[in-house]
Amino acid sequence: MAKNINKIKSTIPSWNLSDLYSGVNDARIERDLKNWLKRAIRFEKQYKGKINSPNLKAEKLAKALIGLEEISEQSSKPGYFAQLVFAADANETTRAFVKKIEEKTTEISKHLLFFDLELADLPEAAIKRFLKAPELKKYAHFVKVVRSFKRHKLSEAEEKIIADKDLTGASAFARLFEELTSNAKYDIAKGGKKQILNQSRILALLYSPDRESRRKAADSLSRGLKQNAKFHAFIYNTLVQDKAIEDRLRQYSYPQQARHLANEVSKEVVETIVGVCDRNRGLVSDYYALKRKILGYKELHDYDRYAPITAAEKKVGFEEAKDIILESFGKFSPEMAEIAQKFFDDGWIDAQPRDGKRGGAFCSFVTADLHPYVFLNFLGSRRDVMTLGHELGHAIHAWLARPKGYFSLGAPLVLCETASVFGEMLVFDALKNSATSPKEKVSLLCGKIEDIFASSFRQIIMYEFESEAHKTRGEKGELAVEAINDFWLRANRKMFGKSVRLGDDYKYWWMYIPHFIHTPFYVYAYSFGELLTLSLYAKYQKEGNAFIPKYLRLLEAGGSESPSRILSSFDIDISKREFWQGGMDVLKKMIEEAKANYKTVKR
Ligand SMILES: [Zn+2]
Repeated sequence: MAKNINKIKSTIPSWNLSDLYSGVNDARIERDLKNWLKRAIRFEKQYKGKINSPNLKAEKLAKALIGLEEISEQSSKPGYFAQLVFAADANETTRAFVKKIEEKTTEISKHLLFFDLELADLPEAAIKRFLKAPELKKYAHFVKVVRSFKRHKLSEAEEKIIADKDLTGASAFARLFEELTSNAKYDIAKGGKKQILNQSRILALLYSPDRESRRKAADSLSRGLKQNAKFHAFIYNTLVQDKAIEDRLRQYSYPQQARHLANEVSKEVVETIVGVCDRNRGLVSDYYALKRKILGYKELHDYDRYAPITAAEKKVGFEEAKDIILESFGKFSPEMAEIAQKFFDDGWIDAQPRDGKRGGAFCSFVTADLHPYVFLNFLGSRRDVMTLGHELGHAIHAWLARPKGYFSLGAPLVLCETASVFGEMLVFDALKNSATSPKEKVSLLCGKIEDIFASSFRQIIMYEFESEAHKTRGEKGELAVEAINDFWLRANRKMFGKSVRLGDDYKYWWMYIPHFIHTPFYVYAYSFGELLTLSLYAKYQKEGNAFIPKYLRLLEAGGSESPSRILSSFDIDISKREFWQGGMDVLKKMIEEAKANYKTVKR
């Protein structure tokens, strides 16, 4: 058996990073860093004080932007290389390598900082005139984004004070949260003995097929969180208040405003998504009623939510996974399969599980003049096949956006997951269609439905929790542990209705979610991405082939436009409820399909 696994592993590819550098000792790394530092210093000399100037001409601004993009892109290569090397082999040496490169890159970027500030300060009339010039068309969105924060920027001196004081203020509290979380210990009884586990291990037990293990893990997590509740509440109160102070100074009129601005979405659009999730909550209850039946329980408890549906699963070899992906992509668009094929052929994928390799999966876009790299740990589960499809979706997105240039390579945050979720959906459909029994189909569908719940409904619940906490903290001052617990429990009970019994101690479970601490209100972006993609998928199913070229154009746009602009050229109006409902309808169909298949299993 062990021999068999090793044989499988040896056929799984690792990547070839030589398009970046030949290795950590490649002399070109030092040379490039030195060269681009020189270029950045020259750039600063050439343009500082001359961007925000009445003498600026469109031609000069365009020249400066081209120069800035080139320096930014080229000087980032050692950093990307270091990150990839570290992910593939995390150890003291590679960590130090990352750190060294980071310091040198920061040195370069310091000389470029003035540019954004001056660009933001340019008078509106001048900018309007410039953006009409054909040579600046390519940078129009980049310029708009830099300037969108103008109204909320403070003076340079004030910004410096905030940055300095943040180190001992908000960042220090965020760091305390990390310390508290990473050092937290949870005890659990196993075989008559007490076992001490860290948080990630206790959370992993919630996926155990054994109900008693899950129940004990949930109990243990609640107990541990409860012990630290006062600290968590204090940290959270402090950060919410810190944000309120900064929002006031920066003249934001409500807590979510800064996030919406960064995401380039309007308040109304976010509210529409929240409303659609609210109206479709019945789907959650509907699904968990089915899951309860499948598991054969009288009642579903909070610790049963992640219970696996089937235990045995057929392993998929890497070659087979590759075929499934190329075939499902190719059926959609031969161009997509062709691009994906390149990643397999040219060594741009690191899928081989190895000692020292980081966990998880990602796609690094790298630069527009090269190509993305895909990273994952392929162990042969169907989940891994979908992950590969997901990351290759990202890769295709970036590949198609390359002509837009380095500044527009990444899509706006809320569109970031479009191509990946879509790619995963294509692979999921292929796997589902090749399932040999209704039982296998049910298990696949349930896995996918739960994934969609996690990135749609659950994120909106978290967003509502945050909204309530920030609002109430603003109106009534410091929040007691019980008050925050109450927001959490109420928001979650709303989601699950009567389908899952959330125990009283579930009220403490807001305490371990890092997003609330590090990136307030970020969570809805996941919902946006998931529902958007499901809605697009619904459109594809309805429109058939006519959809495909439009979809590829959407990917080609990369980050060159705002989300609503990119989508409107696709005849999509994200302010319309009907569009988002289309995504929910796809989910609904999946739940119906799971139910229908389960009926035949039972027979
Ligand atoms: Zn992704």
